[in-house]
Parts: sequence; structure tokens; C-alpha cells
Amino acid sequence: MVRALMSDIRYISTRGGSQNMAERLTFEEVMLSGLARDGGLYLPESWPTFSAEDLAAYRTMPYADMAARVIAPFVGNAFSAEELLRLSREAYATFDHPEVVPLKKLAVDNLYLMELFHGPTLAFKDVALQLLGRMLEEILSRSGKRARIIGATSGDTGSAAIEAVRGSRRVDIFMLHPRGRTSEVQRRQMTTVLAPNVHNVAIDGTFDDCQDLAKACFNDLAFRDHHHLTAVNSINWARVMAQIVYYTAAAARLGSAERPVSFCVPTGNFGNIYAAYAAKQMGAPIGRLIIATNTNDILARFIESGAQTMAAVEATLSPSMDIQVSSNFERLLFDLFDRDGRALAKVMAAFRSTGTMRASAAQLLRARGIFDAGRLDDSGTLRVIAEAYRDTGELLDPHTAVGYAVARQKRGDPSTPMVVLGTAHPAKFPDAVEKAVGKRPELPERMADLYKRPERCTVLGNDLRALQQLMDTTPAPR
Ligand SMILES: *Cc1c(COP(=O)(O)O)cnc(C)c1O
Repeated sequence: MVRALMSDIRYISTRGGSQNMAERLTFEEVMLSGLARDGGLYLPESWPTFSAEDLAAYRTMPYADMAARVIAPFVGNAFSAEELLRLSREAYATFDHPEVVPLKKLAVDNLYLMELFHGPTLAFKDVALQLLGRMLEEILSRSGKRARIIGATSGDTGSAAIEAVRGSRRVDIFMLHPRGRTSEVQRRQMTTVLAPNVHNVAIDGTFDDCQDLAKACFNDLAFRDHHHLTAVNSINWARVMAQIVYYTAAAARLGSAERPVSFCVPTGNFGNIYAAYAAKQMGAPIGRLIIATNTNDILARFIESGAQTMAAVEATLSPSMDIQVSSNFERLLFDLFDRDGRALAKVMAAFRSTGTMRASAAQLLRARGIFDAGRLDDSGTLRVIAEAYRDTGELLDPHTAVGYAVARQKRGDPSTPMVVLGTAHPAKFPDAVEKAVGKRPELPERMADLYKRPERCTVLGNDLRALQQLMDTTPAPR
């Protein structure tokens, strides 16, 4: 078993608001609250560690069983080992590949592709959200409580969250998307779910407008309490936790203490790659972590210069990485600031108001000791989709293509295995793939009729009152 460092794990905030024991939360509390009250993000007080026997066992263990073991120390007393195993097996039974996250050797450069897109909505977010949805349901059913999820999506998060809770009798979901600004596949994956607890709302506005509306609902404390609002975006610790599992699985299978494995991760919010950092802290044989960005490259610029400077968001072919401020980056900064939450809180406040922050030379050196970064623009993305198809036979979606290209740019020692994360199925972004290779990727069989299914969606203006009225008049699930 993975050894926990304490009998019931506690979580602290990156902004130092957890000085006394009462402010150190349990897993259950962290999962239900999302963002910390002081504006920070939750992290475990200390990292559990893998033993050599754990890592040896993970080489062959079925994915769902391994997931239950890896996350056990993070949930503390919230679930028994048996409950975790059941929830994990149910969650990963929804994936249509027996290995859940298959690892393929590519024909070039000692590169591997870890396909994280065999879940119900064809993007990696299913890996965490299928489990999170079940954990939420279990916790709520114990207490007889209900919760409402509200969220904003530019595409992939929305469908994965909807799919994770569809049909629940304890949770319902209001998912806001900018009307006419998601791809058709993304929209249909949300609006064709007709379960009574799923409420899609198309907002006449941008993704930022949607996000502002969701935030405003949280900031209206009376409204928030009345509806028991919960968030499932990538700052929720439970999502990071579930993602630690696949890095550990790949590192255990391909690496050893003498031969660590490197990863290249197409990222926007730093959520996915932060989970790799966590797995490394826990003792998985992981070498370098390569951050791959599109032209929204705030993270790559940080690794190059030590400065984080906000810029305007540009729309690209890899829309799920079109992010200006990577919220999960704060979790890494917390360690770079030697876990001094008070100091970090000041820096983050200044960053919000001035749009820029600078790490010290020592902090930058530490970050570069683990991370490297590169970027790829849209024309490069189209070129690389075609090249990868020619050289490896794999059709890559635009996000994965960014990862593949940056992995090759930053290859380093070719004897080190390097795993590229396949974050979406090519059929989720068929227009870009067709433009690159002249061939339209086919939807997997279970989704083949997506374009024929009926849709349901409420259209609203960019209007908080109208949204709140809709939620007030929509009965809770039963
Ligand atoms: C969400 C998403 C990303 C970015 O993930 P982060 O956790 O925000 O870094 C990359 N690719 C795809 C396909 C996604 O859906």
C-alpha cells in the first residue's frame, strides 16, 4: 500500500490561510469547496510516498485497481479501500479501451503516446471527472445532501462534467457555454444529454462572460448557500489527484530509479502537468517535465525569463489551451516560495493588479531543474499533424500535436523515454485534422449518431439576474 504520512490527511491553502488546525480541511471538505476561502488552492500538507514494491506492482496492475491504491492516502478517512476500489472500477469501466489509458510506442525518437481520450467525451478530463462525479455522489448520499454544480466551459470541461453526473439524483449541473463559439462536436456532446438533472445554458457572450457569471453566482453568498453550489473546474484538488495515477502508471511501466521517464504535456491551466510534478514528488521515476503551449505561451515565457506576464488571449486551433493565466501554476509557486503562503498571497495580489510577477533567480533555477517549455503556433500545428501522420501513422488532435512537436524540440537525451500526452481524440477537432491531412477522423462507434441526436439548451443573455432566476425556478433533482 502507499503509505500516508498521517492517519487522516489534511489540506492547506497556497495563500497561508490555514495556519491553525481548524483551517486544515479534510478531503471531503476540499472536494466540496473547490477554491479556498482565502482565494488560494488546496494542497495536501505533505506528499505520501511510493515504495519500491508499490512501483513494481503498478507495472502490471489493472488501471482502476492501481488508481484506488494511489489515491487512497489522499482521501484519508473519506472512503474505505473497498469503496474506493468500487468507485474506481465503475469510473474506468466507462472507458472503451481495456487498458483505460493505453501507452503506444511511436516510430520516432524513443517517444511514447499516452492516449487519455478513451473516456465518454473523448478528452483527458474524463479520467478525473468520471471518478470525481462518483465520489461526489457517494459523499452526498451518505449525508442526504444535494449539490448544484455551476461551471463555464469553452468546450471540453463542460461535456466531461455533464457526462460525470448525468442521471444523478443528488447533483444537478448548470453548464454555461458561449453561444455559437464552441465546436459543433463539443456543443452536441453537452446539449444532447437529455437527463433531467442536466441544464445547458448558451450565453450570448464570450467564454469570459460565462466565467464571470459563474463566479458571480459563487460570490453571491446567500445564493451560493441556498443552492449548495459546487465547482468542478481544474483547480478542484480531486481532479489533480486522479491525474497523478496515469503519470505513475507510465513511469512505473517504462522507467526505473536509474532510468526516469520524461513527459511532454500540452497544457493551458497547468493542471495536467502539475499532476506529473506531484507524482514525481511522491517518488515515481520521473525525469523532466516539458510544458507545451500554443501561442498563448505565458508558461513558456516564464520558464525562459522568470517573469509571468499576462497577455490577451488569442483563439487557436487548440482552444482548450487558450488560457491567459494558468490557475494551477500557483500550486507550483507555493513550493518555489518554500510553502510560505503569506509571501505568495502578496505576490499573487500584485500579479492580479499589475499583470506581472517575477521569480527570483534561485526560484527560476529550481523550476528549470524540473521543467522545460516550448510552443507551437497554428501553422506549425497543421504541419505537425501531417508530419506525425506520415511518420508514425497516428492522427493527432491539435492539442496533442503541440505536445508532440515540443517533445521533439526539447528531446534531450534520446535514451530517456519521453511520453507525450494525448489529451483529445482527433475526432473531437475534425476540422483542423482534415485541414492538415485531407482526411476527416471518424467518431468512435458509441458516438457515431451524435449529429442525429436531439439537443436541449436554454439561451440566455449575459445577465446574472436571468441566470439566477432560471436556477431558482428549476427544481433540484430527485
Ligand atoms: C483541458 C485540455 C487541455 C489543457 O489541460 P490543463 O489541465 O488545463 O493544462 C489540453 N488539451 C485538451 C484536449 C483539453 O481538453
